[in-house]
Amino acid sequence: MARPATPICVLCERPMIPEKNGVYALLMAHMPPKIYEVYHSDKYRCTICGNEILSGYGNDAVIIHYQEDADERIARILALPRDVYVYVFENEEQKAFLKRSR
Ligand SMILES: [Zn+2]
Repeated sequence: MARPATPICVLCERPMIPEKNGVYALLMAHMPPKIYEVYHSDKYRCTICGNEILSGYGNDAVIIHYQEDADERIARILALPRDVYVYVFENEEQKAFLKRSR
């Protein structure tokens, strides 16, 4: 077997497959939570258990909250299909707050 090129599912002990490239990782900060930075990432899926993960984030954020057009660009991402972006929370409180307000 060759050196693995993708993440490995620890539960299933099998390489994961690329599911989607160019998924946005929305890094949350503060309370109430706000999108702080956005990174391009790749989504992988385990073909056995179905677990999905993000891996790889490029060198630089594609959006940073203080950029002049950040709100507009973030709004465009949030209008995309739900499988194209993933919120990344710092804690469960942020996640619960956003879930209540959706
Ligand atoms: Zn698995």
